[in-house]
Amino acid sequence: MKANRRTDTKPELALRHALHRLGYRYRKDYRLDLDSGRRVRPDIAFTARKVAVFVDGCFWHACPEHGSKPRANEWYWGPKLIKNVERDRVNDAALILAGWTVVRLWEHVPLDEAVTTVVTALTASGLAADAPGAAGEQPDQDLPRNQPGDDSLS
Ligand SMILES: [Zn+2]
Repeated sequence: MKANRRTDTKPELALRHALHRLGYRYRKDYRLDLDSGRRVRPDIAFTARKVAVFVDGCFWHACPEHGSKPRANEWYWGPKLIKNVERDRVNDAALILAGWTVVRLWEHVPLDEAVTTVVTALTASGLAADAPGAAGEQPDQDLPRNQPGDDSLS
């Protein structure tokens, strides 16, 4: 049985491309060794701003909308999926403890919405950081104001 497919799922790929087009630079599938000793590998990591993005598969991470447990082999999948979800939560907590902002997106989230969520998190952490555009990341231009589907600006 193949392990959790972690990288280069289509929604993740689309999100990465969109962020790249907006001028953001990130590391993909980058392993973080946290002080707690825990190793976490976000799908997309903005190391200077400490924003970790995960694009979670609806099945593997038990999305409330599409994560209906498989009827066959419930005895096998049930505990496995619960374990996945528990690990997600532990990883989130470890990241937050280490000063990271965690963004988790279901793979079913529309691209526009996913981009907006990530950009919002980056903007928030950018405001907190005293060195915008620190090593490894390009300085961000002014954020586009006319993002399609973005009605969250107030
Ligand atoms: Zn879903």
